[in-house]
Amino acid sequence: MKALVVGGGIGGLAAAVAFHQRGWQVEVLERAPEITEIGAGLSIQPNGLRALDAIGLGEQVRTGGQAGPPRGIRGVNGAWLIRNDVEDLERRFGPWAIIHRAALVDILRAALPAHALRPGTTVRKVLPDGTVHHDGGTTTADLVIGADGVRSVTRRSIWPHAAGPRYVGYSTWRLLTASDGVEGSVETWGRGDRFGCVPMPDGRVYCYLMSNAPAGSRTGLDRLRERFAHWHDPIPALLDAARPDAVLQHDTYKLPNLRTFVHGKVAVLGDAAHAMAPNLGQGACQALEDAVTLAAAVDTLGIDAGLQDYDRLRRPRTQMVAQLSHRVAAPAHWNSPLATALRDAALPLLPSALLGRSITPTYSWTL
Ligand code: FAD
Repeated sequence: MKALVVGGGIGGLAAAVAFHQRGWQVEVLERAPEITEIGAGLSIQPNGLRALDAIGLGEQVRTGGQAGPPRGIRGVNGAWLIRNDVEDLERRFGPWAIIHRAALVDILRAALPAHALRPGTTVRKVLPDGTVHHDGGTTTADLVIGADGVRSVTRRSIWPHAAGPRYVGYSTWRLLTASDGVEGSVETWGRGDRFGCVPMPDGRVYCYLMSNAPAGSRTGLDRLRERFAHWHDPIPALLDAARPDAVLQHDTYKLPNLRTFVHGKVAVLGDAAHAMAPNLGQGACQALEDAVTLAAAVDTLGIDAGLQDYDRLRRPRTQMVAQLSHRVAAPAHWNSPLATALRDAALPLLPSALLGRSITPTYSWTL
């Protein structure tokens, strides 16, 4: 049996590994000339690590990138708005990891035979019968997996009338910087701006910033330093230590829900199926869950029944996580001084059990 994977990102590579381990012939078509990832840190949460366990790679990521659970959310002056019980989170769900994106791609790629990877191959059209037209010709397969990201050609080919990506209203900057004094993963909320930092095992700190902005506008490091200059320590020092050429800015898009993730011999997964606002740090984790669930379902039940089972298992869950991800950070992007003052006064009063309950289904996934 042959699976053709469109897109060699984290979701596509994980799917290729999962099918390869089950004895399938796999081929990954990736438009980039090289299979790697740009970007900074990537937080892999307990559910994502369990998905990696299903393909034997969880331990490698855990040992290379131990990170504690998120400690909580602070206000601009440093006062805690929400403080997580990190020991309880770790006891209930297991460890969290932080890894450089390129390192995760290397781990996945190393689990595949070199001949399975076809970088420099752009897919132009995917048909429901398993035919894929690309700039190297036409290939057919028993199963086509569309893992080609938020602007997926697979999604557009199979569901031409489905709505496209929607800008969520804020842009994101990511950077790795050198610093001490960051003890754990913390996010800080202002008025329309957010700052998060996670220490990396190599001593650097992964920082992400999100600010309300019109789509397409560009803001450099100098302007970011000014904007966050009065925020609590060590935020100004982290930005001062950053190199301008190490800052990546991307506008943030999500995809409206699809009615199904499967059609004919084609399935979509990862961002192609359910690109979400990156507020829970779950996009890649969900792509990993998709990948191992798809391989298990199709390999066990056959293609038709397996695809139906994949859709049944994955669509409600990923759409729930996407909605939660969008909702949780909405108050960080409020612009009104009154609303944000009320928010800062009310959040510390919320019982931590309530907050813990809302995230439990996300972290507790198993295959
Ligand atoms: P992609 O990574 O987009 O991969 C798609 C691949 O398909 C690419 O390699 C692309 O080149 C290729 N491709 C596209 N079109 C074609 C074509 N026509 N032909 C051939 N190849 C094609 N998630 C987490 O779990 N934890 C985090 O901490 C986290 N932080 C994030 C922070 C930010 C700022 C953002 C924006 C996202 C974050 N995410 C996080 C989400 C995560 O990055 C994505 O959900 C994940 O990378 C999606 O993987 P994917 O393989 O589905 O898609």
